[in-house]
Amino acid sequence: MSETRLAKIRLYVVHPLGEGQTVPLSREQAHYLFGVMRLGVGDAVLLFDGQNGEWLADVAEAGKRGGILVCRSQTRPLQMPPDLWLCFAPIKKARTDFIVEKAAEMGAARICPVQTAFTNAERIRRDRLQIHAIEAAEQCGGTFVPEVCDLQRLDALLDSWPEGRRLMFCDEALVGAGEMLGEAPRGPWAVLIGPEGGFSDAERTRLRALPFAHPVSLGPRVLRADTAAVAALTLWQQALGDWAS
Ligand code: SAH
Repeated sequence: MSETRLAKIRLYVVHPLGEGQTVPLSREQAHYLFGVMRLGVGDAVLLFDGQNGEWLADVAEAGKRGGILVCRSQTRPLQMPPDLWLCFAPIKKARTDFIVEKAAEMGAARICPVQTAFTNAERIRRDRLQIHAIEAAEQCGGTFVPEVCDLQRLDALLDSWPEGRRLMFCDEALVGAGEMLGEAPRGPWAVLIGPEGGFSDAERTRLRALPFAHPVSLGPRVLRADTAAVAALTLWQQALGDWAS
């Protein structure tokens, strides 16, 4: 097989990458590369570990239950996303999966599911959501995988809010109000998206009073939470993120 075709396979590995570095494969990865994609000894793949960029690696051993790859050369340096968190209230499973996938593609550095007054989900499968973020990074050419945090209460998140981080508070009560990010400064930010039921009055009052919060409207229509997450990340990336650079 030609290297161009093989180079299309990108895998995230939890193993530090560097020149000559050997990388053992898990059973699942071996099944994917050798069983599904039919790769064999001598074939090449692209690897990234979230810290050392992307590497071209050759298959040195290919087995049913495992295998070994050897890193040849770096093909791309690590490209960190901007320091942007996506905080969102989890909704139905498939839509939550979508939000995590899109957040990884859109260049969020961290994904924080939050429980708000009107959030239906009591718990999330953090490990499953993390896999969605990894697959999105593999697919979109990213060299970084955003961490998916455990579900936490919005109150608790705001109580321990890190100094210097601004919050783009997407407030459905501002629908059609034309409230934008304006001349907001660059730096660490977070986007906050509410659940299907929106924010409670108490939450809105607290959020609006926070000195680091910037209440924002996402246009003249009320968007579903999954649409709102993508729209908000787009706006932020365009105004303050890495799209222009
Ligand atoms: N049930 C609510 C809508 C919730 S939409 C209502 O009818 O008012 C889910 C989330 O998406 C909201 O909490 C908000 O964070 C975001 N959102 C959707 N449309 C928006 C808009 N036009 N402006 C700002 N935020 C919006």
